[in-house]
Amino acid sequence: MKILVPVKRVIDANIRVRVKADNTGVETANVKMAMNPFCEIAVEEALRLKEAGHAEEVIIVSAGPEKAAETIRTGLAMGADRGVHVQTDDRLEPLTIAKIIKAVSDKEGCDLVVLGKQSIDDDNNQTGQMLAALMERPLGSYISKIEKNDNGFAITREIDAGLEDLQISSPAVVTADLRLNEPRYASLPNIMKAKKKPIDAMSPADLGVEVSNRLTVVKVDEPPAREAGVMVSGAEELVDKLKNDAKVI
Ligand code: AMP
Repeated sequence: MKILVPVKRVIDANIRVRVKADNTGVETANVKMAMNPFCEIAVEEALRLKEAGHAEEVIIVSAGPEKAAETIRTGLAMGADRGVHVQTDDRLEPLTIAKIIKAVSDKEGCDLVVLGKQSIDDDNNQTGQMLAALMERPLGSYISKIEKNDNGFAITREIDAGLEDLQISSPAVVTADLRLNEPRYASLPNIMKAKKKPIDAMSPADLGVEVSNRLTVVKVDEPPAREAGVMVSGAEELVDKLKNDAKVI
């Protein structure tokens, strides 16, 4: 089995995000970037499947500008075998990214695509779903467990009502939720080894994908500043405020 893990380069989750002065987007110049946390979980799970003897190869793919190669390198330092960088400076919407991932998966003959459930910058939560539809493959979204078996994969999904156990056939698409695993740190020797691992570079056009956007970003604003809290004298006043001021009970 070959596993493909699509990863996105986003602003590091520990950095305070600042909106650009002209409200066209968020500031990314000279800002620390990192692999999207849900993508790290996806890479970790693919590596665990490989280490358990279920896969021969784990391939990392990222679509984005030149620097996206650094994020692929992070996945290689965690232990993935090689990378595919689909280079473009254009803004990419989930449908275009899903088309790119499909093209790479078809070309590489991947049996399983493990994505993050969501990218923490745009919060789309769309790419995995669109990919499964385009590929006409079963989708296991928000998984907190996956096991390979003779009929495909036994997965557990995190849903509002609790946990849902499903069996999906192979080939498949799954998206990783927070509790799937705790991603490993790349060790120094593995960071050094990763420098020698191959990354194929190509454009969306090389894969037959046209970058066409359907959404226009109208305006990006800072969230409103939080109002100061109020000290209450006791439970009675608290209940009164919740009832009459906040009107939540
Ligand atoms: P989203 O639909 O944007 O919330 O992203 C969900 C998942 O799609 C991410 O966790 C990645 O696995 C994948 N993904 C999103 N954007 C990219 C990208 N530019 N390159 C590769 N994979 C991506």
